Amino acid sequence: MNRSKLEELWQSQSSRDTFQGCDFYEIDDLLTQEHKQIRESVRGWVKQRLSPIINECAQESYFPKELLPEMGDLGLFGPHVPRQYGGSGADYITYGLMMQEVERGDSGIRSTASVQGSLVMHPIYLFGSEEQKLKYLPKLATGEWLGAFGLTEPDHGSNPNGMLSHFTEDGDYIVLNGSKTWISNAPFADIAVVWAKNPQGKVQGVIVERGMEGFSTPEIHNKWSLRASATARCPIRRRQSTRPANGTRVSG
Ligand SMILES: Cc1cc2nc3c(=O)[nH]c(=O)nc-3n(C[C@H](O)[C@H](O)[C@H](O)COP(=O)(O)OP(=O)(O)OC[C@H]3O[C@@H](n4cnc5c(N)ncnc54)[C@H](O)[C@@H]3O)c2cc1C
Repeated sequence: MNRSKLEELWQSQSSRDTFQGCDFYEIDDLLTQEHKQIRESVRGWVKQRLSPIINECAQESYFPKELLPEMGDLGLFGPHVPRQYGGSGADYITYGLMMQEVERGDSGIRSTASVQGSLVMHPIYLFGSEEQKLKYLPKLATGEWLGAFGLTEPDHGSNPNGMLSHFTEDGDYIVLNGSKTWISNAPFADIAVVWAKNPQGKVQGVIVERGMEGFSTPEIHNKWSLRASATARCPIRRRQSTRPANGTRVSG
């Protein structure tokens, strides 16, 4: 898949998605006009930009990274994050409606958005230092940067109790070792929030940036679902050089 193939699909199929919505439980009555307008704009984007290409992307296991800036413009990344950090300060109903519409278009692309917003931006916003928030959140909100969330491990799945990844602090650095797998967005991610145990066994988040020593993201191929989202293993085998420890840990 390349840009010109995507352009061709956008041109040829742009009007085929005729979804009009459905409201079996009369939930619309509980929404504000603003909620409905935002839902309508995301629905329109899905029809015009996602539906025309998603079948081919899924068939070819192609992650349409070309959509990331548009998704950022629409406010799909971390809409609940306050404006000063690049979000729009939206309520969770708005966020849910946005994700519902993207999910209708494709679960993998919704994963890209909700991993970025809920699993990367949210912990940085909640637990990060002011420096980290200003450094990472605006770029994640626009889609200039892509983020990944590393919890699941080869030996213990998503059970944090069994987690083997661990880190220690060494002067100005955090030394992180371990292995993650099934990590959405990771093949293209600029940063990852990686969960690991400190020497006392407490799970904390560490921000790892692309290019740091010992961090790689070999892609997992031939998935049976979420085929248009990119997924990777993340072995972290060597010393991770990060900024000073007190500015790098994300969460307690
Ligand atoms: C495409 C894809 C993308 C992913 N992206 C990410 C990501 O971005 N970041 C990340 O960290 N992880 C990611 N994952 C991993 C995913 O979150 C985990 O695979 C998922 O949480 C399931 O956890 P598990 O593998 O430990 O399975 P388990 O939790 O071990 O579950 C395995 C099976 O056992 C059953 N089971 C578990 N516990 C019990 C119990 N107590 N009683 C009865 N039945 C039980 C479950 O229902 C399930 O059927 C991704 C996975 C996929 C496939």
